This record gives sequence, C-alpha cells and structure tokens, in this order.
Amino acid sequence: MRKEYAIRLPTGAIWTPERQLANPTLWQQALMSAKGAGHPAQCLCRDKGERPLYYTTRNRWLCLARFPDSGHLHRTDCRFYAPAAEASGLGVYAESAVKENKDGGKSIHLSFSLGRKLGGPPIHPTNTGPQPVRRPRSASRMTALGLLHLLWTEANLHVWHPNMAGRRSWAAVRRAITTTAASISQTRHRLDERLVVIPAQPGPNLLRDATVDLHTKTQWSHQSSQWIEQLILIGELRALIRGEKATVVRLHRDQDCRLTLFCQHALAAAWETRFPEIQRFLAATKSDVRLIALLVGETRLTDQKVVGNIHSGAFMPTTAEFIPFASSYEYRVARKLVDERRWFEKPLRFDAAADVLFPDFLLLDTAYPHYPMEVYGRMNDPDYLRHREQKNVLYDRLYGAGRHWQWVVDPQHKDAIPPLPPLSMKEMGGTNT
Ligand SMILES: [Zn+2]
Repeated sequence: MRKEYAIRLPTGAIWTPERQLANPTLWQQALMSAKGAGHPAQCLCRDKGERPLYYTTRNRWLCLARFPDSGHLHRTDCRFYAPAAEASGLGVYAESAVKENKDGGKSIHLSFSLGRKLGGPPIHPTNTGPQPVRRPRSASRMTALGLLHLLWTEANLHVWHPNMAGRRSWAAVRRAITTTAASISQTRHRLDERLVVIPAQPGPNLLRDATVDLHTKTQWSHQSSQWIEQLILIGELRALIRGEKATVVRLHRDQDCRLTLFCQHALAAAWETRFPEIQRFLAATKSDVRLIALLVGETRLTDQKVVGNIHSGAFMPTTAEFIPFASSYEYRVARKLVDERRWFEKPLRFDAAADVLFPDFLLLDTAYPHYPMEVYGRMNDPDYLRHREQKNVLYDRLYGAGRHWQWVVDPQHKDAIPPLPPLSMKEMGGTNT
C-alpha cells in the first residue's frame, strides 16, 4: 500500500520511480556520485520541508534509506513513512531498549533471555510476580508485549487500508512478520533466525512450511555445544489447560504442526491476571476476534514432534483483519472504520504506562496528515476525566485546535458511535495506484 515518490539528488536532478526503473544503471551511477558528494538526497512526497535520505548498500545495490527518527516527516503513504515515536507507546523506550540503525533496521534489548548455558538452570519465567502499579517513565528493556507490538507496528499490521480487504490472511501476516523480523536484531542474532509463525488457518502448504520452519529452527537452537537458543512463536491462543505438573499452552493448529507447549502453572496464572482478555476470549464459543500470542521458550525434537517449555509470553486481541484493539469500545470503532472503508492506524502501547497519552486511532484519509480518534468509556472515574482534559490539550497542540474525533460512550447507547470525520478523496486516491 506504500508508494514510491520522486527523489531529488544533491545535484538538483529529479528521479521519478519510473525514471529509476527505466534506467537502473544510470540510477546506480547517479546514487554513487551523490554518495561521493556527501550530501543527503531528498524525498519529494510532500511539497514543503526536508525529508533527507542517505545512501546505503543492500545486496550490492546502492539504495536510499531514511534518517533515524525522520519517518513521520514523510507522507503517510510514502514508503519511507513511520509514525513518530511519541504517537504511540514506542516513545517510552530509552535508546538502550530500541535503537534505529543506519540501515533502517532496529536493535533491541529484551527483558527476558533468548539463550541459556547448556547444563545450566532453566530460564526462570518472567512476569510471574505482581505487576508494578506504576511503570517507569523510560524503559531500558523491552518485554514480550513490547516485542509483539514492535513486530506488529514494523510489519505495518497496525495499519488498515480498504484495499487490504480480503487479502490479509495468516499467510500474508506470516510473510509480513518474518520479513520484519529480519530487520530487527538482538545481540548477535536477527530475530527471524528464531521466530516461527504458527498460522491459525488451514492450508496444507502453509502448515507444512510452518512445520518445516519449526523443525529447522529447533535444530538450529541446539547446534552449539555450550548454549541453547530460545525460540519465539507467534500464533493464536486457543486454550490454557491445567495439567498435573504444568499448564498446556495450546495454539490453534499446533497439532497440525506436531507441536506441544507447556508452561509453569504460576506463569499461566500471571498471564490471566495481566491479560484479562484471555479468560474472555477462551470462554467465547464463537468469535470473530483473534487473541494473538507471542511465546518465548525452549523447544526440542522428540519422535518428529516438537515439545516446548515457555517462559515468557504476551497476548493481544485483534479483529479478524488482525487490527489490534484495547477495549470492547475500541473494537466497535475498529469495526466501524473497516465497514466504512476508512484508512487508519492503531497506535500500540508497547511498555508505556497507562498514563502515557497517545490517540486510540489515527485516521490517515482526511484532509490532514493524521486525524486522532479517542474513545472515552469510563466517564464516572475522576482520574479518567482528568486524562481526557490532558488529551484534549495535547491533541490541540499536536494536531490542530479542535481537530480530533471523540466518542464519549453513553452506557445506555453503546452502539451510538458518532459519525466519522469526512474522507478526503485526494488522500485516498494517492494509494490506489
Ligand atoms: Zn517520503
């Protein structure tokens, strides 16, 4: 859904995407001499302002990349666009937790271990203790939930465009997450080396590929004589079954992939407290929502089956279209946005505390670059009302006075969602090419 826009090189020469495609050799030569001159190129996705790009080499080809933390300067449909860190919970991290590299990839520092010494003690489960009431203002490490939100955001799965209707399947999501994981690294390894997506969707090729992936990466995790690597699994949670010694963590279709996962009872209990949606989702008999799980643990192969011990995990409800939501009211808004064929983004909380403010949704198809949307569901709570005042002030400053949509939920009329801000055909037209 992202577009290529024309590039202006330091010489003043303008290269449209068509010109680059028609003359690949000349384009490479032009980039080479621009790189030698030592000045950045500019993306021309907007009329005004500077959007500098620098030169980098990928697969022996010279190409362009955006400067760190400059993604929000681009048009929302430009291929260099990325939301500003403060427009989601991503802004809570210190540079030690997540850093944008010069090649556009990211380096992260996690709060849980991705390896253990062979013969050493097993990795202690994370998050089994009580949750701190207030989380720190700046997080120096990323939890499993932060990682799940990072993968979703970097893979652009938090964005919905009506052109995606019918196309966002588990196969597409698996591709998007795997590609994204290749651009994120943690210590010596790229995340895609240890990431396995278990699709909750039938399809012989899809499940066969996932099974092969699971077996290959399980073997990879044991290849060192001193160290056991941990795998990261992403799928949909289906059940937590309390056994005699451990809890069985069931993902949809894990049996098709010949996979059995266990965790300690204490960890399963901590998950149910920390993620109250687990109980709600598992109790629902029929549902058009998904509960996405990111699980971290050690796997081993026995009789062509894979058995895993999970020590960290996080969960995130999404719509059938894989759009995350944080409350039943947000779910209703997401449905309305999809049904009315709107283009929007769902900023995620990562590891930010509840009092870190950012919009519930951002519309991308109005006459403005971003149009914040806010749902207020607990109007009898004084803390919450103060929060609302703070948000109004913040959005007026960031997005323009009075230029935000809000739904103050009336408990008697939970479906009375106000009309959405008008759509601008000019903005929408830009992405249909
Ligand atoms: Zn741009």
